Amino acid sequence: MAAISCPMFMENTELSNNIKKYCGEAGADLVGFAPVERWDMDGVVPVDFRPQRLWEPARTVIVMGMGMPLPIVETTPSVLHMELYNTVNRRLDTLAYDTVRHLNRLGQAATFFSRDGYNSLKALRRWPGAAFGHVMAAKYAGLGTIGLSHCLLTPEYGPRVRFVSVFTEAVLPMASLPEKELCIKCGACARCCPKDALRVREDRLIGDYDKTACLEMAEELTKRRSYPCGICTKVCPVGADRKLYRQKGIVKKYLREREALAADPDHPDYRSWQHVRRYGAKEP
Ligand code: SF4
Ligand code: SF4
Repeated sequence: MAAISCPMFMENTELSNNIKKYCGEAGADLVGFAPVERWDMDGVVPVDFRPQRLWEPARTVIVMGMGMPLPIVETTPSVLHMELYNTVNRRLDTLAYDTVRHLNRLGQAATFFSRDGYNSLKALRRWPGAAFGHVMAAKYAGLGTIGLSHCLLTPEYGPRVRFVSVFTEAVLPMASLPEKELCIKCGACARCCPKDALRVREDRLIGDYDKTACLEMAEELTKRRSYPCGICTKVCPVGADRKLYRQKGIVKKYLREREALAADPDHPDYRSWQHVRRYGAKEP
C-alpha cells in the first residue's frame, strides 16, 4: 500500500468511527477526541505547550490510553512493574505512529507526541515536565478527571492507564466532558506516598504536589532498576478494574503496608508482592 494515497474525504462521523475502530483494533483501550480550543478554554496549560503552538494545523488531538493490569501495579516498585511500564510505553508509541500513518492514508495530515517525552531524569531536573502533557489532553478528550494526585482518573482504570496523543488537522466530533469529579478525595494517594510528595488541600480537590520529592523517588528507583514508583496509582480506589479483580476493601491493606513491612518484611499479607520485589532488582 502507498504510504500516502489520494485524500479520501469522509464525513466527520464516518472518519471518527473509522479512527476509533482502527485504534481499538490496534490495541487502544480508551480513545477520545479533544478539540484544540479546549486548551484555551480554561488557560491551565501554558501557551507554548498547547497543540496549535506546537503544530499550527492541529484541530483535534486524538488521545489513546492503555490500561496497566492491577496485579502488576500492586507489586510496585518491582522489575515486573518496570517491564510493564516500558511495554505499555512502547505499545503506545507504536500505536501513535501507526495512527498517524493511518490518518495520512485517509488524506489527513497528522503528527504525534510520544508518551513520556524526556530521555533521562537529569533532563527532568533541568526542565521539569515534557514538551506536551498527555494528562491534560486526556482530560480535554473527556476520558476522565484529574484527581488529588494530579493523575487523570478514568472510570475504567482509575489512574492505572497511560496515554499518548496524535494531532490531526481533521475536525472530529468532540467528546463531552465528565460532569462529575471521579476523585473521592479519600487521601489514600497522599497517605501512601513514600516521599510525602502529595498533600491534601482543604480548599480544592487537587492536592499540592512536590515534583522534586517525587523525582527523588524516581531517581532512587532508577538506580535499583525498579522504576517508576506509581504507588499513588496503585492505591487509588477509583476504577472498574477494582471490580474485575474483586478487590472490595483493598485500600485498608494498602494503608497498612508500609508499617507492616517495616515491622516484618515477610508479613504474610504482602508475601507475594515482596517475593516479586526481591527478584531482579538491585539492592537499595
Ligand atoms: S509517584 Fe510515588 S513519590 Fe511520586 S507522588 Fe506518586 S506515590 Fe509519591
Ligand atoms: S487515591 Fe483517593 S484522593 Fe487520591 S486520587 Fe484516588 S480517589 Fe482521589
